[in-house]
Amino acid sequence: MIDLHLHTTASDGRSTPADLVAEAKAAGCRTIAVTDHDTVAGLAEAAAAAAAAGLTFIPGIEVTAVADGRDIHILGYFFDPSDRSLDEFLTIQRERRRERIAGIAERLRRAGVVIDADRLLADYSGAGRSIGRPAVAQALIAGGYATDVSDAFERYLVEGKPGYLPRVGPEPREVIARLHAVKGLVSVAHPGKMRRDYLVEAMIADGLDAIEVYHSDHTIIDVVRYQTMADAHGLLVTGGSDYHGPNSGRDGTLGLVGLPPAAFARLAERAAGRS
Ligand code: AMP
Ligand code: ZN
Ligand code: FE
Ligand code: FE
Repeated sequence: MIDLHLHTTASDGRSTPADLVAEAKAAGCRTIAVTDHDTVAGLAEAAAAAAAAGLTFIPGIEVTAVADGRDIHILGYFFDPSDRSLDEFLTIQRERRRERIAGIAERLRRAGVVIDADRLLADYSGAGRSIGRPAVAQALIAGGYATDVSDAFERYLVEGKPGYLPRVGPEPREVIARLHAVKGLVSVAHPGKMRRDYLVEAMIADGLDAIEVYHSDHTIIDVVRYQTMADAHGLLVTGGSDYHGPNSGRDGTLGLVGLPPAAFARLAERAAGRS
């Protein structure tokens, strides 16, 4: 199994990088990429654990862009995680996340829903740690406002609900350019969840290298649709589970969805040809 979409405690995953590697190995993964939201903080620990476990490890990231007022998730692979300019860009991304969480907490407070935002932000103040709405969801559960993560999102955190605050951030074009600047291969994450193919077409015009065809939330129709789109534009294909750890409230399960070996071979070949 080749799984190129995994999260750790560096962002909103529930497993530490070392634990995630152990879980991935137990689930039959041989090649993995860790793709935390707007941070590379989990990569060193994951790479070391993967090497010790005999797994092939690819550095990855899932960067948040904004188009049409909506979040667009953009995956980068095979880039240099130690690059200074990338670090500066990601630091700004994480700062925007913190501001958004503070704004969400304020909106919730005005709606009579009180969570301890300072404590939440302090919990995520570690070097390179990236906060997100799932942390707010956990606080809502702890406060008795929601029964589980999905319930918290549906009641409070999605568009149209009292805690929803639109994101501020770079356009996909900028994110693609920044990942290319550090020799990354760039893929659009779970386009079937986004359901805005005109944005995918625009990203292709902006230099996208690949489409995430295989994903836990993709139906077989999504797979065929985005494989066809990738073929039509001569793009590479990526895929992974989007696993967020045990009890994360997400449906991405390890060992069920992955990238076919032939597609991974083309991706790795392109990466090797670039450096
Ligand atoms: P943020 O990064 O703050 O925009 O939070 C987005 C993250 O929250 C996604 O990457 C998912 O991990 C998670 N998420 C989004 N929608 C839901 C949902 N309806 N139920 C559970 N988790 C969700
Ligand atoms: Zn996530
Ligand atoms: Fe995503
Ligand atoms: Fe993800």
